Amino acid sequence: MLKQIKGLHHVTSLASDARQNNAFFTNVLGLRRIKKTVNFDAPDVYHLYYGDEAGTPGTVMTYFPFPNAKRGDKGIGEVGRTAFSIPTGSSQAWLDRLATFDVGGIVQGTRFGEKRVLFDGPDGDQFALVESDDDRTPWTGNGVGTQMGIHGFHSADMRLNDPDASAELLGFMGYEKQDTEGNVTRFAVPGGNDANTIDIEAHSCAADAAQGAGSVHHIAFAVENRARQLEVREALLDTGYQVTPVIDRDYFYAIYFRTPGGVLFEVATNEPGFDRDEDTANLGEALKLPSQHEYLRARLQSTLQPLDR
Ligand code: ZN
Repeated sequence: MLKQIKGLHHVTSLASDARQNNAFFTNVLGLRRIKKTVNFDAPDVYHLYYGDEAGTPGTVMTYFPFPNAKRGDKGIGEVGRTAFSIPTGSSQAWLDRLATFDVGGIVQGTRFGEKRVLFDGPDGDQFALVESDDDRTPWTGNGVGTQMGIHGFHSADMRLNDPDASAELLGFMGYEKQDTEGNVTRFAVPGGNDANTIDIEAHSCAADAAQGAGSVHHIAFAVENRARQLEVREALLDTGYQVTPVIDRDYFYAIYFRTPGGVLFEVATNEPGFDRDEDTANLGEALKLPSQHEYLRARLQSTLQPLDR
């Protein structure tokens, strides 16, 4: 069993409108935009990152907004709901706030004894805010104070019709089974980064998901550095997984592999971090391009949809 993985690093999803996406995560959820760059594999499209002050691994929600992208179909073989951690007792404040912004899909509930508020993002993305004890310092602003600020990720759900192989993979990656409630089994990394929970939802007769706007594209797991990442890569290869070579994403190094249930996993390094090319005070403000796409700057600055801030 691997010991290098500490929990989630980031979650990356698809959107249909950059401006709407930016407004939702900054104005409604009160996260900080910590990087404005492009999809390194398709530079005509933004890659927008939202998180805490520094973009600490385990807080970072990222989007590829493909203009006018068709909405995805929810189903099995994907990450369903992404959950953020909120302070204990802050559910009502969030219910009020989400209603003020006409957010859809608002439902209150509990899972494993934790109060949670479910809601939809602008493309039907499925989110939860979960009350939990969490010491991570939230980013505050836009009317979201420390009493209700998001600490980072709480967990992500995987929707599967055959959960056993993915449960075994999570076990190999260092996740331990915690509890079961209905069709949901909870896994967590002991001593992880507070974004160290994954819920597997077993669905026996649902249709396959089709990716589109509002779908999670992949989830990334955090390792400390490149040496730990290579250890994980070797171990996955030895177990028979097809793993990509290490790819330089400027703010972290990435490897990718497909899970038995069809979900795309990434393992990303905590180094070098989002302050690699701009000061922490100004993170996310300027358009940052990787060196291989710098020659496109003039065109991209005229074609990418302007964001409000
Ligand atoms: Zn990623």
